[in-house]
Amino acid sequence: MGILKKFSIIGILCLLFVSGCQKNPKNEVLEPISATEFVFNTVSMISVYENKGERDTEEIINEAFDLCVYYDHLLSRMKEGSDIWNINHSDGEAVTVSEETKHLIDKSINYGNLSEGAFDISLGVLSSMWDFTAENPSVPSGEKIKEALSHTGYEKIVISEDGIYLKDSAAQIDLGAIAKGYAADKVKEFLISEGITSGIINLGGNIVVFGGKPEGKGEKLPFDIAISEPAKREDAGVIGYFSLEEGSVVTSGNYERYFEEDGKLYHHILNPETGYPAESGVDSVTIYSESSADGDALSTICFILGTEKGLELIESIDNTEAVFIDSEGEIFYSSGIEKEIPYTKLK
Ligand code: AMP
Ligand code: MG
Repeated sequence: MGILKKFSIIGILCLLFVSGCQKNPKNEVLEPISATEFVFNTVSMISVYENKGERDTEEIINEAFDLCVYYDHLLSRMKEGSDIWNINHSDGEAVTVSEETKHLIDKSINYGNLSEGAFDISLGVLSSMWDFTAENPSVPSGEKIKEALSHTGYEKIVISEDGIYLKDSAAQIDLGAIAKGYAADKVKEFLISEGITSGIINLGGNIVVFGGKPEGKGEKLPFDIAISEPAKREDAGVIGYFSLEEGSVVTSGNYERYFEEDGKLYHHILNPETGYPAESGVDSVTIYSESSADGDALSTICFILGTEKGLELIESIDNTEAVFIDSEGEIFYSSGIEKEIPYTKLK
């Protein structure tokens, strides 16, 4: 075969790669087509490694972000006109909501029961009071917290044939601990329906990967999902990775949203019993699960329950694993984890 012919074959191969993805000559791993947007009040990223469908990858990614915006407008307690906003502002009247909202509220109530009340989506009044996203948040007075606690308790949420309502009209639903995970699952479903066979969805730390990372020669590698060092500062480093071809990895940590007052740090995951940030001795929990909605709820729950009770709960749930990092920096793993940090792997 002449040199010219060899070149033309290589040329065609290169073209094929470039049309879908870029080739990294060093390790032959294909570079993804990625986009980053600010949704769910956080930075979110979608990366596509392989598109076997008919449509343009960029176009599909744009539509995937539209889907995120759709879920944000459906499930946010802050967005006027969302299903949750409508329930919270109906003065106790039943509100007709989408099947998806109903499903997610029902799922959250089940997680409330499973966690014996640690997971409580009726903490909306407390969430507004603490307002961790405000420019200058401050610790609410003990009186205010006591008053807010009298309007919490997920048993006040009623799912009826006429719709959903709050028995206590001053109570408020907040799906902040589960909505991003749910949306990440839905984005994955959408991408797959469009012919995407490999990708990463990262909605503010709720990460879903699927299809493995395609390697140049047709082989698949695991994705390495970073686990942050739970330092209470913005420039926290990476302590290790979760290596995974398929599934969801979600972390709840005390470094994600917090503020400092009089030398004490206050983070955004609240103990429904006290109305104050949960103090279970855990700095971060990372959950592996198939569904990201479940992983999202469970990471919040395990953060509140602490290492011992949290691990007990995780061991009772199939196909779900956890990595806890406590305030002493000690790391605890559930039994389905084979390789430990820095390259955590499932058995
Ligand atoms: P995450 O970052 O997923 O652990 O969720 C934290 C968010 O969930 C907070 O910003 C609140 O909106 C909400 N939240 C806080 N404490 C609780 C709780 N005990 N149960 C359910 N949701 C909570
Ligand atoms: Mg959560």
